[in-house]
Amino acid sequence: MNVLVTGGTGYIGSHTCIQLIEAGFNPVLLDNLYNSKKAVLERIKRVTGVEPLFIQADVRDKNALINALQANNIEAVIHFAGLKAVGESVEKPLEYYDNNVHGTLVLADAMREAGVTRLIFSSSATVYGDPASVPITESFPTSATNPYGRSKLIVEECLTDFQTANPDWSITLLRYFNPVGSHPSGSLGEDPQGIPNNLMPYVAQVAVGRRECVSVFGDDYPTPDGTGVRDYIHVMDLADGHIAALKHAGSKPGLHVYNLGTGNGYSVLDMIDAFAKASGKPIPYQFVTRRPGDIAECWADPSKAQRELHWQATRNLEEMTRDAWRWQSSNPQGYPED
Ligand code: NAD
Ligand code: UDP
Repeated sequence: MNVLVTGGTGYIGSHTCIQLIEAGFNPVLLDNLYNSKKAVLERIKRVTGVEPLFIQADVRDKNALINALQANNIEAVIHFAGLKAVGESVEKPLEYYDNNVHGTLVLADAMREAGVTRLIFSSSATVYGDPASVPITESFPTSATNPYGRSKLIVEECLTDFQTANPDWSITLLRYFNPVGSHPSGSLGEDPQGIPNNLMPYVAQVAVGRRECVSVFGDDYPTPDGTGVRDYIHVMDLADGHIAALKHAGSKPGLHVYNLGTGNGYSVLDMIDAFAKASGKPIPYQFVTRRPGDIAECWADPSKAQRELHWQATRNLEEMTRDAWRWQSSNPQGYPED
């Protein structure tokens, strides 16, 4: 089956492409390279032996999408493309709504014209806002606290309405918890441009000597050690979740919603400690004030995905940090420039 992967050279998209190839699918990657590099394609080939077809295009370009869908006999689309930095979204809300909301509407419209009716969308646990309790099930109320989160929520709502109007479509909303780690080969990984916004790439850059010290945002949360607790999931498990969604939900008309998480929560200090062990490097850190908009704790109830997609995360914290370190230590500056 030919699958169009928007945002396919990005962090989660590239790992998903590897698992798609390994599972016998034929991914066609489409990306505007705003936040990724072409060098990823050669790395995918290094791991799988296959260099996937790549189309440099923007998801807001409807003609390019229709061409990509028709010329490659695409049967399903996995839509990763978008902007993802929460802080930046507060500064540049229009860019976020344009890329994430408008981009998805253009994609759905192009799919309709091309007659492709299976879509898997990258959503986020951020749509649960500040949850009243943990673990979080898919039926928890949704809300948004920043433009990035709101863009995900708006897309979820638009796609839900669109699926209601087009009951023969299969639309799957995958709500990711905190993806970390890398392909175990160390050939692919997370390569943020500039100062990393997320904890794990920041910690990895401290371990490799690119940055001096991790700022831990808050030590007074109502959690066991006072630091924020999240559900970190190995990116390879997340990638496998897409294959499961494609196989088990992608063939069924309907609107499908799944949490992709492990069901375990780790604190910021747990993560720093695990990374220090995996890397054998000291990870200096200091406590600073809370980051605005952060919540105390968040982890998934992943049982719906386990039940219906026959998927569950299998890689533990040691594998997450070990694989992240393998990537960071063998590619200290990330991917080479194109
Ligand atoms: P990423 O930035 O590594 O990948 C996104 C890719 O989309 C990049 O390669 C970028 O160049 C491309 N892109 C952006 N705008 C585009 C456009 N208009 N047209 C074409 N390509 C475009 O991010 P990621 O971590 O791989 O995230 C993938 C998806 O998963 C995003 O939608 C993100 O919001 C979502 N998500 C990520 C996380 C996370 O923590 N990484 C958590 C929850 C959800
Ligand atoms: N965090 C931190 N220092 C950093 C980045 C993040 O202490 O430099 C904390 C953040 O407050 C949260 C956790 O690490 O408790 C995960 O943050 P991240 O930005 O990686 O993901 P989020 O859950 O916010 O999407």
